[in-house]
Amino acid sequence: MVRIRLNSTAVCVENRKGGVDVTYRRSGQTERVHSRHCILACYNNMIPYLCSELGKEQVQALEYPEKVPLAIVNVALRHWRPIASSGLGSFYAPGRLLCTMGMDFPVSIGDYAFTRSPDEPAILQGWHAPATYNPGRPIDERYRAGRTALYQTPFATFETETKQQLDLAWGPHGLDAERDIAAITVNRWPHGYAYEYMDLWDDPSWSRGAGPHVVARQQINRISIANSDSESYAYVNGAIDAAYRAVREQTT
Ligand SMILES: Cc1cc2nc3c(=O)[nH]c(=O)nc-3n(C[C@H](O)[C@H](O)[C@H](O)COP(=O)(O)OP(=O)(O)OC[C@H]3O[C@@H](n4cnc5c(N)ncnc54)[C@H](O)[C@@H]3O)c2cc1C
Repeated sequence: MVRIRLNSTAVCVENRKGGVDVTYRRSGQTERVHSRHCILACYNNMIPYLCSELGKEQVQALEYPEKVPLAIVNVALRHWRPIASSGLGSFYAPGRLLCTMGMDFPVSIGDYAFTRSPDEPAILQGWHAPATYNPGRPIDERYRAGRTALYQTPFATFETETKQQLDLAWGPHGLDAERDIAAITVNRWPHGYAYEYMDLWDDPSWSRGAGPHVVARQQINRISIANSDSESYAYVNGAIDAAYRAVREQTT
């Protein structure tokens, strides 16, 4: 039988009596289940707070990666004639709030069909990577500072800057941000991507197959570790690979 407990936050996992005790909080109550196995698929930095059976080396390795903060700004345009006439679907703007902005992927799904004519409304997507704060400092520090800045940046700053950047890029082709934008949304992801090693800051011999994440994901008896952090890879196939490995660890 499978029982999924939603809205339940695990606070303690312990190997006990040939299985695992998992203590969790739900609706203000503390509850505990005993299971034969446990897979921790939360992010690495949390695991030392949940599991007290880890050695010092594994704790240090779990603490190593810093999640990458991100914000995605979606802009609904009433039409995209200026973009079509410019022949330029997207742009990069290093140093500006939105480091990249452009037409969204042409995806149709269910009743929704992507925009085909420049006279139709369209969605633009812009990315803000706040790691540019504190340039020159180590990357983990920059990500943490970027996360704080992301929490502190008001919507109005995103709105003003987005309009300015759109006017600079496509104003010469007739775009007027004040007139042509129907709506703007800002989605903030303070703990966005899993950390991937970079030669500038990390040991160049580290890769998806070698580095602190391999030490971090060591099995702890009946407890295994999944999550994209454990693959040092930011995309969903990393999370799937991690889940596959963790289940195999516990079942073979
Ligand atoms: C803005 C953005 C865009 C992305 N776009 C893409 C894309 O286009 N393609 C792609 O392949 N990937 C993309 N990714 C990455 C992808 O979302 C991740 O790689 C994937 O979600 C990681 O899955 P995961 O299961 O490892 O972790 P998560 O999806 O983060 O799941 C971890 C879960 O654990 C839960 N949790 C944490 N702590 C506890 C606890 N103590 N008790 C109980 N539950 C807990 C969390 O609530 C969460 O639900 C994107 C990520 C972001 C942020």
